[in-house]
Amino acid sequence: MSAPNRPIPAFDRQGELSQSERIDVAMRSFVRDFGWTAALHVESCVRCGLCAEACHFYRATGDAKYTPALKLEPIRRAYFREVGPFAPIVRALDLVPRPTTGDLERWQELVYDSCNMCGRCTLVCPMGIDIAELVRDMRHGMFVAGLVPERLALMDRAARQWGSTATPGEDLPDILAEVSERYGVAIPCDLDRADMLVTAAPAELTEHTKALAGAAKILDRAGVRWTMHREGFDASNVGFNNGDVELQERLTRALIDTAVKIGAKTVLLPECGHAYGAARWEAGKWYAGEVPVRVIHMTEFLDESLAAGKIRVRRIGESATFHDPCQIVRRGGLEAAARRVLAALGFELRELQDHGVTGFCCGGGGGVVSNVRSAPLRARVFEMKKAQVEATGAKHFVTSCGQCRITLEQGAKATQWTKSPESLLELVADNLVD
Ligand code: SF4
Ligand code: SF4
Repeated sequence: MSAPNRPIPAFDRQGELSQSERIDVAMRSFVRDFGWTAALHVESCVRCGLCAEACHFYRATGDAKYTPALKLEPIRRAYFREVGPFAPIVRALDLVPRPTTGDLERWQELVYDSCNMCGRCTLVCPMGIDIAELVRDMRHGMFVAGLVPERLALMDRAARQWGSTATPGEDLPDILAEVSERYGVAIPCDLDRADMLVTAAPAELTEHTKALAGAAKILDRAGVRWTMHREGFDASNVGFNNGDVELQERLTRALIDTAVKIGAKTVLLPECGHAYGAARWEAGKWYAGEVPVRVIHMTEFLDESLAAGKIRVRRIGESATFHDPCQIVRRGGLEAAARRVLAALGFELRELQDHGVTGFCCGGGGGVVSNVRSAPLRARVFEMKKAQVEATGAKHFVTSCGQCRITLEQGAKATQWTKSPESLLELVADNLVD
């Protein structure tokens, strides 16, 4: 007998906290995460509405609830009730109402299902309000209150237990041996000494193994002494996305401390946007500002290896367009590197209408791709991206983030779109010449 069609719940809960305890825990966390910058941000919104048009969720649906400024409501309420200069009066007269459990459940959709923390709204805000960063603070409050979409909570539990959402570390050698055999490349694992610790995204250990094999091929051609390591291999960092700050630190330390242990000077991150945000830009939080190794994204490695003549590629000589992953380009600053690699491959680059730092998110960043509840929203966002890609008339559609690829692959499949997003890394690997 087939399972009955149950509606997907609008929110999920974890743990046994009472409703009132959830509210207290979330509010305390919002307040604790306030620095002066956050307070200034909340105070300075002039309600101009410019951020609405910048956000793909608002643009794709026209629904006012997706206006980025409105996503700051939980923090705004926490600020005015608990921290602001008139907080005692605000509380006494209940000028800003204390949130209800219903509010928190409604906010779960706004901060997890309909925000990629992509920062496009941040870019246009005339007051410089970093909405993406504040959403991250809110996710922390929601996480400690046990109000995370269940799929993300499940991934969090796996990463806490295994150090990865894909596999326990002890299974890594077997997985790598299978990938080695399938593609005929050597993938060293658990070497005692190496110059570079190479990490992976979960998809590269499952459906995107060709990317991992491609990385191995390029690393060998570039003459790098490298290894992967069961003590630190998954760079995707689900803690960064979920608001689980403790897990975020643990996962980042696993990579960097393992690199230090084996004498590696560099941690190479896979084609993954949030890995770059977490390990490249946030690692300093856990190492008093001085990360003991260099952390680079795969795109930087490709760019540097080509520039130094360590690898060479065949010129493909066809047209291509490029999807800029938000965490790598807008938040990470690597706009030019990918374009230099595309140029080395001889592509005639036809830019999307919105590209580079102003490119639209794929709709799956920030864990949204793993959140089944947000599938209909992602589909609306995908239509925007698809229209921009088709308008270029380019033959190839390339990106440098595996999570973007999965999101775009899902969109393509759902709409029977014949174009399939290609990995920049795999294009380089497939076109290496001596
Ligand atoms: S663009 Fe900035 S100032 Fe304007 S409504 Fe949005 S958050 Fe507020
Ligand atoms: S960070 Fe991106 S997804 Fe989130 S509100 Fe801003 S533009 Fe929208």
